[in-house]
Amino acid sequence: MAPTCRVFAVVNQKGGVGKTTTAVNLATAFAVSERPTLLLDFDPQANASSAFGGAHDGLQVYDALSGRSVMKDVVQPTELRYLHLVPSGRDLYGAEIELVAATDRERCLERALADVRDSYEILLIDCPPSLGLLTVNALAAADAVIVPLQCEYYALEGLAGLMETIEIVRGHLNPRLVLEGIVLTMADLRNNLARQVEQEVRRHFSERVFRTVIPRNVRLSEAPSHGKPAILYDADSKGSRSYLELAEEILQRIERPVPPLEPPAVSVAALTPASRQGETGEVR
Ligand code: ATP
Ligand code: MG
Repeated sequence: MAPTCRVFAVVNQKGGVGKTTTAVNLATAFAVSERPTLLLDFDPQANASSAFGGAHDGLQVYDALSGRSVMKDVVQPTELRYLHLVPSGRDLYGAEIELVAATDRERCLERALADVRDSYEILLIDCPPSLGLLTVNALAAADAVIVPLQCEYYALEGLAGLMETIEIVRGHLNPRLVLEGIVLTMADLRNNLARQVEQEVRRHFSERVFRTVIPRNVRLSEAPSHGKPAILYDADSKGSRSYLELAEEILQRIERPVPPLEPPAVSVAALTPASRQGETGEVR
């Protein structure tokens, strides 16, 4: 029997918070534990694709999204038996504009994934740093959202908008969508501010914050220039070990979900600087 596929979108509209590093290393960690995994690069910057080295000049996610090709033909193998990759590229920049005119434009990715999703147990979508149509397509296709959050004060600012977007997608497009969890990234917990940010986030989002915290670790930032996920570049580094632990935590949640998993009914306004509170509003 084909495994039931769980689709995770790795989302945060803020740039450079560790989305790609999280998607690439989680996908690798799942594959290392022999879970058939597909990593879909849904960012025209194509950082997740280059993290696996080499140029991807063949078919790309855009070809499947636009209907020129089928997703099955876009999927590529990686050096890991249990991990496949859907590469991205600059063509995807145009998709955001082209999709506007498409029928059911929020569901193009969901439709394109239909021919491959049953071949995998886990599908991870690395999203671009925006809440535009590409991210909405990813949320419409996903079962759950993973939000990487950098341990710094301003990192909290965008959370209200992100939670609102998840709520809107749940209401209009995808009632099964849940917030799987927030993962604190690039943490230097010797730093007071980082510790305060962690406490605040845990106070507001409680069990929706993963226990595992990803430390700031140079191996994680070096690995892409070697064309490898950190877990294959230096499996014993602190960064790699933390992603292996996070993957284990997620697998335990999939097998034994921690209720409640819906986006939280908390005010994220309390997390934002006082001067910005009027702009962000409350999240239901
Ligand atoms: P974008 O929004 O541009 O897609 P992103 O959210 O995907 O960015 P990444 O590309 O994963 O973020 O990370 C941004 C930068 O920080 C990269 O250079 C990456 O190598 C580095 N980085 C990510 N996580 C860590 C970490 N835990 N320790 C050290 N460096 C990190
Ligand atoms: Mg990225």
